[in-house]
Amino acid sequence: MAPSPPPWNRSPDPFAELISAEAIAVRVAELGAQITTDYAPLANQADVVVIGVLKGSVIFLADLVRHIGVPIIVDFIGISSYGDATVSSGVVQITQDLSRPIEGKHVIVVEDIVDTGHTVHYLLENLATRRPASIKLASLLHKPERAERQIEIHYLGFTIPNKFVVGYGLDVSQQYRNLPFIGYVQGV
Ligand code: 5GP
Repeated sequence: MAPSPPPWNRSPDPFAELISAEAIAVRVAELGAQITTDYAPLANQADVVVIGVLKGSVIFLADLVRHIGVPIIVDFIGISSYGDATVSSGVVQITQDLSRPIEGKHVIVVEDIVDTGHTVHYLLENLATRRPASIKLASLLHKPERAERQIEIHYLGFTIPNKFVVGYGLDVSQQYRNLPFIGYVQGV
């Protein structure tokens, strides 16, 4: 079912819902429970650092961490890809670095979406040089049809078709991050 655009929406385009707010909530709780199980034995040995990749992951991260039942530290890293907003160039720059070193810590990187995989490939390689005790990836979404890199996603929310999606943190031109569901603007 396609919900109506919210009243604040400036675009005349119809919205199509891909994943409802309710389905997201259920899946995010499952991922949090899985992370809790996996990290309970590790959390006493070293800090667990959950790293949100700005800005798209912030809503996912905010919901996910409230389902993680072990002590964690939250940090953020800012990344920008050059090129067209809807096509990954594979050229990535860190625009805002972590606030603390991650050496010896158990790192969980939280991404909004793995599309071609270039962005997260670069990020994981960069973080690995900082000698964390371990590093795993959580991504809300994955578009396998677009994959150009083999990326192992340890905690995956949903596999989606090759559509440009918005909402629940994901934007187009910085808009739509505050939609509670994942949808797409038909025509984008
Ligand atoms: P990749 O390097 O994997 O191709 O792209 C990763 C980044 O591109 C994501 O972190 C996200 O910022 C952006 N991106 C890729 N696909 C989508 C999409 O369908 N919707 C939105 N809003 N951003 C996307």
